[in-house]
Amino acid sequence: MRIGVISDIHANLEALDAVLAHLDRERPDLLVCLGDFVGYGPDPTACVERLRPRLAAAVLGNHDAAATGARPIDDFNPMAQEAIVWTQGALSDAVRDYLRALPEREEREGLLLVHGSPRQPVEEYLLDARRARASFAAGGFRVAMVGHTHQPAVFEEAGSRVATRGLLPEVPFPLRSASRYIVNVGSVGQPRDGDPRAACVIVDTHARTATLYRVAYPIEVTQTKMEAAGLPAALIERLALGR
Ligand code: ZN
Repeated sequence: MRIGVISDIHANLEALDAVLAHLDRERPDLLVCLGDFVGYGPDPTACVERLRPRLAAAVLGNHDAAATGARPIDDFNPMAQEAIVWTQGALSDAVRDYLRALPEREEREGLLLVHGSPRQPVEEYLLDARRARASFAAGGFRVAMVGHTHQPAVFEEAGSRVATRGLLPEVPFPLRSASRYIVNVGSVGQPRDGDPRAACVIVDTHARTATLYRVAYPIEVTQTKMEAAGLPAALIERLALGR
């Protein structure tokens, strides 16, 4: 079984379409989404409508919760707040209802699916092995798939050690049966690891691998739409930097 995993689309339709075209060529058996469909980008309703019929499972992201009013936004930075307020006005009723009904965690083919971390599924940022250790200790999974930081990585628990591993594009990462893993699939619509290309991962449960892919998309098209929508300049600029 091959499972396509995407996260953090953030209303970037051009990045989403590029990733979906890539996945059409790779033909995974299932596609799942780890949340943050919306927030930051100019096409929240179109992105959800495009993805929804293709998804076997999806979970709630913090920006999804904020966009439906289910979560306060006072702890977001000013740019993110501005984008969320804009997004709230741009969502169709049907898309708002869909986002509001997303679960905080799902499981497919033995993979735990959450936005942030296994321990705190919607909000926690797993930026280092120390944080990841607490989620391994909380238990309940062998392989968890996460997004939220917009930085692809793997945390591996082998015995009592937890280490951070790099995920290189197109290089299958081995998921050894003696270890447990938290795999961060990066972001489709706003990468922050210095590579502006959209990210996605395919997990092969038979070969026991996770493979990262990076897909170029026409960033200027998204940026032009963001300018027209009056979204914050720094959010527009960061797309080209991958930061
Ligand atoms: Zn996000």
